[in-house]
Amino acid sequence: MPRFRAILDTMPAYRPGKAVAAADGRSYKLSSNESPYDPLPSVVEAIAEGARQIHRYPDPGAIGLTEAIAERHGVPASHIALGAGSVTVAQQLFEAVGEPGAEVVYAWRSFEAYPLLADLSGVTSVRVPLAGEDHDLDAMAEAVTERTRMVFVCNPNNPTGTSVRRAQLESFLDRVPGDVLVVLDEAYREYVRDADVPDGLTLYRDRPNVCVLRTFSKAYGLAGLRVGYLIGHEPVAAAIRKTIIPFAVNHLAQVAAVASLRAEDELLERVDRVVKERTRVREALIAQGWTVPPTEANFVWLRLGDRTLDFAAACAVEGVAVRPFAGEGARVSIGDPEANDAFLKAAAAFLE
Ligand code: PMP
Repeated sequence: MPRFRAILDTMPAYRPGKAVAAADGRSYKLSSNESPYDPLPSVVEAIAEGARQIHRYPDPGAIGLTEAIAERHGVPASHIALGAGSVTVAQQLFEAVGEPGAEVVYAWRSFEAYPLLADLSGVTSVRVPLAGEDHDLDAMAEAVTERTRMVFVCNPNNPTGTSVRRAQLESFLDRVPGDVLVVLDEAYREYVRDADVPDGLTLYRDRPNVCVLRTFSKAYGLAGLRVGYLIGHEPVAAAIRKTIIPFAVNHLAQVAAVASLRAEDELLERVDRVVKERTRVREALIAQGWTVPPTEANFVWLRLGDRTLDFAAACAVEGVAVRPFAGEGARVSIGDPEANDAFLKAAAAFLE
């Protein structure tokens, strides 16, 4: 038998959201926080055009896309590092800081990939329990030791949807030593409407140890193509560019992301619609009697404890796939109005 690293025996596998179908065939996938809309025709056209070049390797520096992102955010191109989805950029971050004895601090529960990536890279996870549904930034600051190389703050947090406020985050950043990299994971930034939830791009500028992760998978609707990026000061971005597998961001992903930035107004208008639906869904759930933490992301969180798997099964009867975290709760993405209605129907029936 080939021998593998012992850590693989104890690592849980990443569990992607799966679709389910009702008896009559209806199926609503609200388990992966994807965009509920079909790709824009202009983006599909760009991909079709780009397909003529797929016998060539992609531009390894992704220069066109990097420049488009730099222009979009008003940052130098040298501050950007791309990856095959922001989860891969997160993996590159672990590769970049991972040396024996290194620790990473993050809230728990948060994005499921953090502990997997830490285990894979040999970095020790220091999980700081949420206070209620929120990041406990005081406890996180206290958890930083001289072994800490990196801290993740997922804002808004997956799966609870909750967000840290500007004043809290600024005083947290002031407490973290400058040789610890703070990663603000903003996969859901475009859905934020609360002006007190800071845009990480306003925070990283004066702080060389702070960087921001963004993705084309959610608001930009390119989950299937895998494009994400980091914005940070030059030494951070350069370190991450060094850890990329050559040609990781493929040609079609690059052209689709550029086309999406060109069509940004249309895409952000769709985000507005999702945000309106988010308000409707949350208010309807509260009217049904549920406790729903305020959410700035494209999903809601229901803390169900030991009823979580029963709840997911009840939703599946309506054809609605949600994301259960056994013993804790369920995360439910905001879909189109029909999908959201199917979910609300299942949620109401569950309480009866
Ligand atoms: N960060 C967070 C907080 C997420 O929820 C996700 C996706 N579920 C990602 C990063 C990764 O997204 P992607 O790799 O598709 O860019």
